[in-house]
Amino acid sequence: MEALHLALFGNPVAHSLSPAIHQAFADQCGLKLDYELILATEENFSEQLEQLRSSGARGCNITVPLKVPAHNIADTLSTAAATAGAANTLVFQQHGVFADNTDGLGWLKDLDRTDTSIKGKSVAIIGAGGAAAGITPVILAQSPDTLVIANRSPEKAADLLRQQLNPNFRSVSLKQLHQPDLPKFDLLVNATSIGHQGKHPELFPELFNPDALLYDLNYGTAAEPLKTWCNNNGIRYRDGLGMLVEQAALAFTLWTGKSPETQAVLSDLRSKLRQKN
Ligand code: NDP
Repeated sequence: MEALHLALFGNPVAHSLSPAIHQAFADQCGLKLDYELILATEENFSEQLEQLRSSGARGCNITVPLKVPAHNIADTLSTAAATAGAANTLVFQQHGVFADNTDGLGWLKDLDRTDTSIKGKSVAIIGAGGAAAGITPVILAQSPDTLVIANRSPEKAADLLRQQLNPNFRSVSLKQLHQPDLPKFDLLVNATSIGHQGKHPELFPELFNPDALLYDLNYGTAAEPLKTWCNNNGIRYRDGLGMLVEQAALAFTLWTGKSPETQAVLSDLRSKLRQKN
């Protein structure tokens, strides 16, 4: 049987969990897998991508800092990739490269596990990078009452809401998140990478409605600072490991047409990470 050839492009890539996740999916589907990790820069990305494509690979995942270059290089875009202006999945097709962004839908699938609805609720996103760009359209499509995007560079938060005329959809700076005229939140999503610096965004328990959820896109050690803060302040917390598995499953379906079962893969990954720490 010929192996399914896939890869992950990014910088860094060495500690990625994607090879283990896709191996588990391939095992479920009885497929042989060859999953490469390719450390690339914006300068050599297109050359490396062409090399992968001509080697007969089916496609690739894309991570930081190449999601925007991947979007720009593609011949055709899904609506999700076009709206986000960034791609996390490329599919090599006969006549070109198709780009999708499975982060938003993957996030929503994992959010479903927490019984949290968005419709009519008050939602905040902290962060306005590639991941926030992926999930913002998905949140808007669920009709929240309020969406506030707070970011260190507020102009990037404003960019994510640039076509929204609803006055309840606002962009603010991190400091302005604590303004008294903002509502309390039912769902707050941490889409910053501060956790990788061993810190968490400055938050106050008063920002949250009772039974609110804080969904942190980070997982593993990068998730620890905010998880600890939530535990200490009685705020419901979920990390982004489930999102990681779900966005990978959606990519796997794009490459193979098969829909892997994700819960078992997530449980297994969680227990492996627990044993490691
Ligand atoms: P980007 O680099 O595109 O964006 C980083 C964001 O964090 C920006 O909003 C940036 O603000 C903010 N930030 C970084 N450092 C600080 C700081 N010291 N103080 C305040 N704000 C800061 O990253 P991504 O959007 O791609 O990823 C964000 C996080 O989500 C990462 O930790 C990543 O690992 C995780 N992620 C998880 C996924 C999953 O499947 N679970 C999928 C994708 C991402 P500014 O704009 O001002 O620079």
